[in-house]
Amino acid sequence: MDLLKGKVVLITGASRGIGRAMAQKFVQEGASLAFTYLSSVEKGQALEEELRAFGGQVKGYRSDASDYKAAEELIGQVVADFGRIDVLVNNAGITKDGLLMRMTEEQWDTVITVNLKSVFNLTKAVIKPMMKAKSGSIINLTSVVGIRGNAGQANYAASKAGIIGFTKSVALELGSRNIRSNAIAPGFIETEMTGEINEKAVEEWKQQIPLKRGGQPEEVADCAVFLASDLSRYITGQVLQVDGGMLT
Ligand code: NAP
Repeated sequence: MDLLKGKVVLITGASRGIGRAMAQKFVQEGASLAFTYLSSVEKGQALEEELRAFGGQVKGYRSDASDYKAAEELIGQVVADFGRIDVLVNNAGITKDGLLMRMTEEQWDTVITVNLKSVFNLTKAVIKPMMKAKSGSIINLTSVVGIRGNAGQANYAASKAGIIGFTKSVALELGSRNIRSNAIAPGFIETEMTGEINEKAVEEWKQQIPLKRGGQPEEVADCAVFLASDLSRYITGQVLQVDGGMLT
């Protein structure tokens, strides 16, 4: 369909799950693709090889999104390799769940740093090249948990709610520069992140979802293609829920 033909896209955390599905869809839609991974080195390298078979420019980088300096260096390297960045997808994220009563300072700090500070790091570094190009689309992965809260995930919910405030502020600051900033809020998507949850709880959740099933990473990726493409050129500052109606 070539919805992203000619666009350079950078995705953080594409070695697995939703990031990986987005990387595949973006390349199928004609994008040139830069992506990162951190601990899943083999999976990252295998993805690079797989996507190069489509014939376009693809490069994987091992980079920690939560590290300010590393993010700055990454953006510089991607611009050097690809010439520019049209779309940034802040996808890298983790969970370290526990009831607040038992949550450690380390669980709090790690989740806030990896999920929220990473979005600041990458966005701060990418706005210069986007301002120079006079266009850009920034897509941040939040969660329905960031809208509604979730018992046992105070750290994760706070990081994802923070992303929503950040997304809207960036939309207000940079709209006049033709840089759009939107968030995607997935509900329950079947990946390694949700694979840790016990089966009984998962079944109960599914019954509460109007579409009566969990979502697939590809279904989130379709929404990301839309926000990355010119089809969404008049949309900014929004949070699009991809949740089967879970939160209505
Ligand atoms: P996942 O399967 O656990 O994959 C997480 C990805 O993030 C991996 O590729 C991982 O790379 C990368 N990552 C983690 N820490 C990183 C860091 N410091 N620097 C760079 N990359 C890092 O998770 P997922 O389910 O696909 O979730 C993707 C995003 O969607 C997350 O932001 C998550 O919060 C959000 N989300 C997911 C769901 C869901 O139901 N699955 C729902 C709502 C929101 P390595 O393995 O190479 O370290």
